[in-house]
Amino acid sequence: MNPKVIILKLNSDSCNLCCDYCYENKKNFSTKNNEKIIAINFIEKLLNNFSQNQNVKFILHGGEPLLSPFEYLEELFTYFRFLTQNRNVTVGIQTNGTIISPKLINLFRSNSEILRSIGISIDGPIELHDSVRKNKSGEGSWMRINSFVNEIRKNTDLGINAICVISKMNINYPEKILDALINDMKIKNISLNPCFLLESNGIDSFSIRPLEYFGFLQRAFKYVCKKNLLSNIKINPFYNQFNSFLGNPPSVCLWAFPNKCNSFITVYPDGSIYPCDEWSRNDKTMFFNLKDNLPPEDQLSLYDFNQDNYVNDKYKMMINLCSECKFVRDCGGGCFSIRSYWYENDIQMYNEYCDYRIKYIKYLKPLFVDATKN
Ligand code: SF4
Ligand code: SF4
Repeated sequence: MNPKVIILKLNSDSCNLCCDYCYENKKNFSTKNNEKIIAINFIEKLLNNFSQNQNVKFILHGGEPLLSPFEYLEELFTYFRFLTQNRNVTVGIQTNGTIISPKLINLFRSNSEILRSIGISIDGPIELHDSVRKNKSGEGSWMRINSFVNEIRKNTDLGINAICVISKMNINYPEKILDALINDMKIKNISLNPCFLLESNGIDSFSIRPLEYFGFLQRAFKYVCKKNLLSNIKINPFYNQFNSFLGNPPSVCLWAFPNKCNSFITVYPDGSIYPCDEWSRNDKTMFFNLKDNLPPEDQLSLYDFNQDNYVNDKYKMMINLCSECKFVRDCGGGCFSIRSYWYENDIQMYNEYCDYRIKYIKYLKPLFVDATKN
């Protein structure tokens, strides 16, 4: 059974950095009443809605999750370990990679059975990364991330995944980005994710357009082939796209069709429950609040995409639109949140998104077929 992915917004929108393109602090929410952590009984209440054999993956997210009080993180991991008595539980952390201490290292080590890897946001070499990922005084964060990576490597067996956001600031430098992550930082698992800002119709000064992203991916793929990197480095979106060509179950929702958004649930410290955090956060997208006493069956049906509500309507609409497309098997439908936003607010961007998906498949598939012949 596929795991439910539960994104825990520890600290909600609080962060020690203020990256130029950050969407967390643009969401229609501010941390109220000092609700910065998620009460463990909220998580218990949420899990009561799932069958005992439902596997669960928790992602500690934020803001910056490692800003949470250390005692709270300890308590959370103790609770996760307790849960493993009855169900399969894994944990991931998505961090900006600037906060590390011997206590945190020990916590990671002592939970290595459930915590296998850590995702760190790195936007390329120091000059590109620091131009966007800065602290509140405007200082770049790359040097601290480099120390974080070294500490994790020296003291733990945790895998390191680099999450690199492709924005206007670094889109012209795919080769430099890959060199920095692979050669300088020795990272073997990389995601090159586009910065498509929803609130600004995709033309925000940091956001890129879908076809610009396609151009970036073409250059990145050429470089990866030239340097013969595909066999020992997992680089996404290529790795997952190849899996999709092979007909293997994708590990990322963007290539899964039709079941995608309904594997994800986001929990905020005030107990509110939303779909995947790519959906914007507002009254329409909220499923329910764990403080409310809805019977478990009713709660479950709200986020299981069976009922009529705003997100489910968009989700079904996207499934219908993709069902008529001859590229759906290879494409997987992309991100439903981004597409449904553009479908309603900017049809040109919506069409350009599909254009990029189709061009990308047409570009990559023959290269993939050639490579698998040899
Ligand atoms: S909204 Fe996008 S990123 Fe989130 S689960 Fe759906 S397809 Fe995946
Ligand atoms: S190209 Fe567009 S319509 Fe076709 S499957 Fe992909 S996202 Fe859906």
